[in-house]
Amino acid sequence: MNRTESPGANLCPRCGKAFTCGMQAGAERCWCADLPPLGPPDPAQKGCYCPDCLKVLIAERQARA
Ligand SMILES: [Zn+2]
Repeated sequence: MNRTESPGANLCPRCGKAFTCGMQAGAERCWCADLPPLGPPDPAQKGCYCPDCLKVLIAERQARA
């Protein structure tokens, strides 16, 4: 068991920070459900983003819209 990797931990594809996805942690809903949807999936997106990056990306998309 790798001590640096907790079960259900995700690595943000943008900043590489470890975070926990509520869905993968077994929660009924994820914290990301409280944020506005990011929109159509980005082809470059490899998975969930950490809370910090998701907020930044949402703000960037809204600024571009
Ligand atoms: Zn991140």
